[in-house]
Amino acid sequence: MDADGQRLLCIIVPCFNEEQVIEQTWAAIHHVVCDLVHVSTQIYFVDDGSTDTTLFKLNALARRDPDVRVISLSRNFGHQAAISAGLDLADRQADCVLVMDADLENPPALIPKMLDVLDHGHDVVMGVREAERAVPLWNRLASRAFYWIFNQLSDMPIKAAAPDFFLLSRRAREALSQMPEQRRFLRGMVAWIGFDRAYVHYVPPARAAGQSKYTFSRMLEFASDAVFAFSSLPLRLALRLGLLLSGLGTAGLLACALGFAIMHAYSPWTILAALITALAGLQISAVALVGGYVGRVFEESKARPLYLIKQAPDEQRRLDQPRIAPVTSTTITASAVRGARHLRTKN
Ligand code: UDP
Ligand code: MG
Repeated sequence: MDADGQRLLCIIVPCFNEEQVIEQTWAAIHHVVCDLVHVSTQIYFVDDGSTDTTLFKLNALARRDPDVRVISLSRNFGHQAAISAGLDLADRQADCVLVMDADLENPPALIPKMLDVLDHGHDVVMGVREAERAVPLWNRLASRAFYWIFNQLSDMPIKAAAPDFFLLSRRAREALSQMPEQRRFLRGMVAWIGFDRAYVHYVPPARAAGQSKYTFSRMLEFASDAVFAFSSLPLRLALRLGLLLSGLGTAGLLACALGFAIMHAYSPWTILAALITALAGLQISAVALVGGYVGRVFEESKARPLYLIKQAPDEQRRLDQPRIAPVTSTTITASAVRGARHLRTKN
């Protein structure tokens, strides 16, 4: 907060070939932030190597609106990298940082509500889709399957239907910037940093114009990045499977030996099958053991902080300070939001 009691909100908007919608998006954001009280805003459009006129249009917007900043990446690095660039380059003095898509699927009209919720003592406010998006059935099923599998596998469950539409306090943003990993899955990273969080539900409008940039192969890559970065369960399962198989094979061999001792008869095929099972189990276990070490090297290479601090020894306990009202979750529809511009942020 500056001397005039103004807070600085930085809005980060990743854009890849969004020429059809970008001016409309700027207008919608501008319209909302103009009405905010005691909040000054900077809008960071991150052009992620667009091959259309997006960058040209963004630069024209920056000439018109002094609150607009344009970051242009040298090529297309992907949605997560574009957001990360914005988080790195947005004003370090910002009191809070909002991340939203450029296609108006994340309604800017929700911004006042999200700021309001942040003011109730939270560090992370996430937009959560209340209904299915207007995207093809195949995409919806793939998205549901992804969240289900991720949450089964991961030690760090994430909320389904929560896209990269979130507002972070300064310390939450700083925590995120301490995570230098290359293959980034921001939703998981935002879950990983902890802190108090709240959810603002909304009914997602359809993409205002243009097309989704997530092709099937991109979605697969995104999903595998997410699972590999946040789950070691497949490794543990492999070890368990290996141990189970070698246990079964050994039990089979023992049974054969017992049969031979009692009845003086044996079946060479049974012995062979038991041997193969035991050896296969041993091999899988050995590979899983090597994988365990590789997994630890991977964990180290991510270089995440060992811990993050919510309250330092010399800090007044923030949560003990009286809150306006505890808010953990709130539901708001896009239509309700349109009429909710009277909401004001509190300092
Ligand atoms: N985006 C980006 N780089 C990419 C792909 C997408 O910056 O390589 C941006 C895109 O312009 C949009 C946001 O990321 O603002 C979400 O992309 P999209 O709407 O295509 O994804 P969907 O909403 O269909 O999941
Ligand atoms: Mg979209």
